[in-house]
Amino acid sequence: MPLWDIANPQLKDLVAYEPGKPIDEVARELGLQPSEIVKLASNENPLGPSPKAKAAMQAALDHAHLYPDGGGYRLRTAIAGKFGLDLRNVILGNGSNEIIEFIGHAFLRPGDEVVTAKHAFVVYKLMATLFGATTVEVPDPDFRHDLEAMAAAITPRTREIFVANPNNPTGTLVGQDALDRFVNAVPERVIIVFDEAYYEFLEHPVDVIKYIREGRPNIVVLRTFSKIQGLAALRVGYGLGSEEVISILQKTRQPFNVNAIAQAGALAGLQDDDHQEKTRRLTWEGRDYLQGVFSDLGLEFVPTFANFVLVKVGPATPLFREMLRRGVIVRDMTSYRLPDWIRVSIGTRAENEKFVRVLRECLGR
Ligand SMILES: *Cc1c(COP(=O)(O)O)cnc(C)c1O
Repeated sequence: MPLWDIANPQLKDLVAYEPGKPIDEVARELGLQPSEIVKLASNENPLGPSPKAKAAMQAALDHAHLYPDGGGYRLRTAIAGKFGLDLRNVILGNGSNEIIEFIGHAFLRPGDEVVTAKHAFVVYKLMATLFGATTVEVPDPDFRHDLEAMAAAITPRTREIFVANPNNPTGTLVGQDALDRFVNAVPERVIIVFDEAYYEFLEHPVDVIKYIREGRPNIVVLRTFSKIQGLAALRVGYGLGSEEVISILQKTRQPFNVNAIAQAGALAGLQDDDHQEKTRRLTWEGRDYLQGVFSDLGLEFVPTFANFVLVKVGPATPLFREMLRRGVIVRDMTSYRLPDWIRVSIGTRAENEKFVRVLRECLGR
């Protein structure tokens, strides 16, 4: 008997997540030196982790024989304090992606519906499929979430609605007025997830945490240490919400889901405002440079609010492969149904310049 016959049927529809190609893998496959490869494929911090986070992680290694604090007391307390919330409003995840799964465990049954934007982060759909739910993908004109249309797509079967703000892979932002109207339009029986993985890159931040402070029960705000904090390898993120929603999500997790090294690094990184500020400045400078180059080259791009740019280059897969051979890893957007687009993360000045040099060679411009 094939084991697939006894596996959960929805797993047959599940398409594995395609991550940015690791530097070592590209080096191995193409016979390059890792040091000559530039990775601008996963929106990581090109400056690396904060020096304070590194020191805290080194120190934490001395206690690696002990199980971590499964309750994450110190880190959750620090996060709560930063946002004027209580410890009970905070849950930690093995990356914020894990919290997307917790929300599925807590609220999705087969046949339920999850509403997303058409070009939203793919993990929402992956997780919905894992739990046997259907993803309703709402058109996003000009790559911007249409929150009115998303609220209108809610049916009696809708359990979750995802708003990535800024969104990945488009880099677009929904403003405060549209957010306020949306939150008022969505019934409390639907969990609204605001995924703010790139929040810290905003020049003019929006505020969705206020809805939690106001006592809305059905909101979860996701943040991560993988992007501006430069701790992607550690896998740590957090969710904010009402005490009720967080207490439900806490039931769905493994006892030690975030390791002690990650907790120590995140706690120290959270307090290093200088490192975040430096990263923001570098990102804004790189954004202006890259968007300027795209304009000069006559390439259509989506003006970004995050640390990456979506740009239209013609057939993306051959270009992606050609750039790989020349040591630059970007993201081919074909799997997002955007076969003429790539997404490039904003790197250091030298990395951005190498990307531009290689892009021009490959496009012959
Ligand atoms: C990168 C990213 C995340 C963060 O994932 P982690 O699991 O915290 O590394 C979440 N949402 C979006 C939209 C992202 O781009």
